[in-house]
Amino acid sequence: MLTPIGLYGSNTLAILEPMAGGNKRLSAQLRARAEKLFPGGVNSPVRAFRAVGGEAPMVMRASGCRLWDADGNEYIDYVGSWGPIILGHAAPEVVEAVQRAAAEGMSFGASTPAEAELAELVVGALPSIEMLRFVSSGTEATMSAIRVARAFTGRKYIIKFEGCYHGHADSLLVKAGSGVATLGIPGSAGVLEEQACYTLALPFNSEEGVAQAFAKYKDGIAAIIVEPIVGNMGCVPPQPGYLKTLREITQKNGTLLIFDEVMTGFRVAFGGAQELYGVRPDMTILGKIIGGGLPVGAYGGRADIMRMVAPLGPVYQAGTLSGNPLAMAAGIATLRRLKSERQSLYPRLESLSSTLMVGVTHAAQENGVQVTAQGVGAMFTWFFRAGEVRDWDDAAESNTAQFASFHRGMLENGIYLPPSQFEAAFLSAAHSEEDVQRTIRAAHETFAA
Ligand SMILES: *Cc1c(COP(=O)(O)O)cnc(C)c1O
Repeated sequence: MLTPIGLYGSNTLAILEPMAGGNKRLSAQLRARAEKLFPGGVNSPVRAFRAVGGEAPMVMRASGCRLWDADGNEYIDYVGSWGPIILGHAAPEVVEAVQRAAAEGMSFGASTPAEAELAELVVGALPSIEMLRFVSSGTEATMSAIRVARAFTGRKYIIKFEGCYHGHADSLLVKAGSGVATLGIPGSAGVLEEQACYTLALPFNSEEGVAQAFAKYKDGIAAIIVEPIVGNMGCVPPQPGYLKTLREITQKNGTLLIFDEVMTGFRVAFGGAQELYGVRPDMTILGKIIGGGLPVGAYGGRADIMRMVAPLGPVYQAGTLSGNPLAMAAGIATLRRLKSERQSLYPRLESLSSTLMVGVTHAAQENGVQVTAQGVGAMFTWFFRAGEVRDWDDAAESNTAQFASFHRGMLENGIYLPPSQFEAAFLSAAHSEEDVQRTIRAAHETFAA
């Protein structure tokens, strides 16, 4: 059993009672304290476990694929900070790189060679990106890319797809999947109709929907933004040919195609979904893995489009901590290792994921629970319903009560899954065959209980 002693300052320790191993007492105390300070006790909504009930562990530390809470409970982690932690927690080369960078100064608000070094790794992996800009989150990156697309095309409308999440910028919080879907809110209060009215939300995987939108709004559509493999309504891959159709119709209409690869970039393949499906978007959004666990986002693409951005062009976008040296160091260390191990790493992740998806699905079936597993590479979801999920309407038919009870049971058995039916789970390089088998055993116990 671990004690939290030493991880917090003395001020914090004063409010904690001595630990009795295996319970949830300290986590509960810490949660009560957080609830006084943060809305719902959290700094991002899905962390509050509202969709699944049960008590969100207060995390003290993590290593590899393991996570420990304040009461010393150990979990196998399939959240991986919602995607970034593909090498596992506290990967030694990433920790070392960040420590070294920190000792040289946290931030200068001036250019460093590390920015170009990470950029070259990104461009080398995703050749559709000729120029890019680093920002500090995926939200910032998508918001900026939309601004650039509107400026470049001189058009107003944006097409997005129901169940896709592109961060929480006003114009993109429409049918936004992820935490928004989890809470059952169609959009968000505080977003003006005027800000959302140029966003067309269409069903994912429907070629007719897109054709109709182009017929109606013809020369008015600046961009299609899409998660090429959706992760934010649970994992929903594109139907064969769908992304190529999006590429063709955008090309024909002078509309930009934006792939939001914040989740899929360096996750489903080293070159992301665009490598996997052989489709070249005009712009790409990245985040999560490229920051190796520190806050980084990026938007980039064709050089003629990116030259719109200040100081070269008229689109203003800036950031005090953009290209931050610590974040760049973590990203470089992460991408370097992925690059050197990609031939073996991605196939291994895929095979482990497949073992896990099938194993848990069988456990469900044996106990009369209908589950459909969907995944690409090391991202996947168990939908609690029968039949394939192709769009948001399908996903929304899932039995969320059954999912919630599965989630609670797994947590009790030491398995930490994303606390929502509408989120993807992730494997990391640190998960072993034994971890996966243990997880499948936990699923058998959970479904049988
Ligand atoms: C996580 C995510 C975002 C938002 O990134 P943040 O860093 O949380 O702002 C945007 N798009 C997709 C596809 C994501 O998965």
